[in-house]
Amino acid sequence: MTDFVDTIVAGGGTAGSAAAWQLARRGHEVLLLEAEPALPARIGEPAGCPFEPAHADPAYRALAAESVALWRDVEVATGASILVRSGSVVHGPAVRVDPLAAGLARARLDGEFLTVPQAEARWPGLRFSGSVLFVHQGGVLRHEAAITALRSAAGADGARIAAGETITRIRILGDDRVRLELRATDAPAVAAGAAATRELDCRRLVVTLGPATARLLRGLLALPRLTTSREDAIVVPMPGGSAPAVLHLADPTAPGNRYWRGDATVLGGTGELALGWRGIGRSRADAQITSTRAGSRSGSPDALSPRERAALLRYAREWLPGADLALPSVTSRVRTAVGDGGFLVDRIGPVVVGAGFGSAGAGLAPAVGRLLAGLVEGIGAPDGFSLRPERRRAGAGASGGRAAALGVRQA
Ligand SMILES: Cc1cc2nc3c(=O)[nH]c(=O)nc-3n(C[C@H](O)[C@H](O)[C@H](O)COP(=O)(O)OP(=O)(O)OC[C@H]3O[C@@H](n4cnc5c(N)ncnc54)[C@H](O)[C@@H]3O)c2cc1C
Repeated sequence: MTDFVDTIVAGGGTAGSAAAWQLARRGHEVLLLEAEPALPARIGEPAGCPFEPAHADPAYRALAAESVALWRDVEVATGASILVRSGSVVHGPAVRVDPLAAGLARARLDGEFLTVPQAEARWPGLRFSGSVLFVHQGGVLRHEAAITALRSAAGADGARIAAGETITRIRILGDDRVRLELRATDAPAVAAGAAATRELDCRRLVVTLGPATARLLRGLLALPRLTTSREDAIVVPMPGGSAPAVLHLADPTAPGNRYWRGDATVLGGTGELALGWRGIGRSRADAQITSTRAGSRSGSPDALSPRERAALLRYAREWLPGADLALPSVTSRVRTAVGDGGFLVDRIGPVVVGAGFGSAGAGLAPAVGRLLAGLVEGIGAPDGFSLRPERRRAGAGASGGRAAALGVRQA
């Protein structure tokens, strides 16, 4: 007979791990299924990913404010250090930066304007321009630590975590029944007697499979088109310097900025900086990609096209004078996004979907997990995150919207 669990969360990235935690703490019977037997060693980022609460869209700002509190809850519950609260900075043309400050106050987040000289004195090695908005609750999210802690908090609240089983097929059998076909990916476990394949039924399924979401739900639900793209950043040493998470908003009217491919994002780590264009990547149709967090550092800037490499290095020369550009390396990550840049958090029948988190999903994960758990319980998510195109707001996304606002074409 096929085994049965009330609620299964498929995919244990930040979104799925957060959903499992939120469901378990509400008393649901929940099983988190994750293909990877263990979290891969993280070699792609200097210190994690930037957490920038200053979103232009109020829905995302509210998720950020909620996530600040929820990350603290997870840290208290597990003793882990997840969010390095070094603050975040958004700078650039006042017409783009200043409206963000009013929004922060409405979300009860603390923003403070610095002058350019104040910012440059505080972070020697970086240059700033226009309006400089410092957000106290921003910082760096330690991505792998976040996933580990969310899973551990979920486990402490009663969730079961099964890492090392790949979902190969999803079938909807009725309003309250979904069947999963699984294949063990953990070779030592199979050698020790675990079943190589099995089926599992559930009443509710939460699908948070990152780039694999569209493939596994094909033919079952009509999803907006999810694109998967690779984003590259260069990593350069910055001897003796420190940096917060920085988002430099482009000024499309400045002739000197024509080489920019979008808004620039700079993340400080220990003695090094990662620099990339936010929300800009190269499309990937690679079915092998299963996780948005698969970072890999090639060690060589040749992984970038000459044009991309030249643009990032030119930015670094102009805006990161403290960086040592002699030996840049490249870090890559894969992101999955809906064309309008918005999140996808919705439910149809027994299936809840959380996908399209683009370049902002990790930081907002605990609040997204709360939305996903609410959907399992029949509580609706905001209209803007709907599966139905007519309910979504064009360009309202957490990151893609910014690129769209610049008129930058995404590859
Ligand atoms: C360049 C870049 C920069 C980013 N910057 C930021 C940032 O500054 N701030 C921020 O907050 N976020 C950032 N992100 C976003 C963040 O990495 C993700 O959006 C976020 O982690 C949400 O991911 P997820 O849980 O939906 O999917 P994923 O992390 O992809 O997780 C999906 C999980 O499902 C598992 N899986 C896949 N297929 C199967 C299967 N068949 N069976 C079982 N399990 C399976 C995978 O192993 C994986 O663990 C960035 C992303 C990129 C690419």
